[in-house]
Amino acid sequence: MVLILDLDDTIYSTGQLKTNIFARALSSLRDGLGLQNPEEERALKIDLWNFPFDHIIEKYNPSKSVINDFKIKLEEADMTSLIPFIDYSRIQNIGIQKILVTTGITCLQEAKIKALGISTDFKQIYIDDPLLSPRKTKELIFKEVLKESACSPKECIVIGDNPDSEISVGLKLGMTCIQRKSDTKSRHPNTHLYLKNFEGLSLKLLSDLIKSQS
Ligand SMILES: [Mg+2]
Repeated sequence: MVLILDLDDTIYSTGQLKTNIFARALSSLRDGLGLQNPEEERALKIDLWNFPFDHIIEKYNPSKSVINDFKIKLEEADMTSLIPFIDYSRIQNIGIQKILVTTGITCLQEAKIKALGISTDFKQIYIDDPLLSPRKTKELIFKEVLKESACSPKECIVIGDNPDSEISVGLKLGMTCIQRKSDTKSRHPNTHLYLKNFEGLSLKLLSDLIKSQS
């Protein structure tokens, strides 16, 4: 058995990031794109918050140097106040090999992982960075994990919050999927288990969930 975990809104709440942590990165992107009125800045903020960065690139077409400045400001963002969900400790204490798979700009995801102090929980950490070409998508990463773990797909348990990302990829590959409830995302109709939080999570529950599919 192997656990594949998502990061954002699965291990910690991204709500913690809604402060001014990214103000300087946002200003640098706004100026680099030449956006001048508050309406445009507001739209950019909403896009940054709600869409992966490849969407931003497609929509705003920033130059390489604008992206680089933005990355530098992101790296400078102070994320030391980030903390995991309290119930994440249930996952930490389950004695199964864990793999972290997250989508986002590498420096940003690495800063979050460092701030959360969770890197030693994982045998391996994969980041699908939308700025890299070719991208290593979640699907490619999940297939690699399957191959390396020598587990059957259903013994590979995907835990995440996003029905359109890790949950749909996991289901497509025949993996066992657990979706954590999120304020902004809907429930995937085919997810094997839908949890409000990880309080009730145990090795027995995971084993039973796998067995229930055979
Ligand atoms: Mg997520």
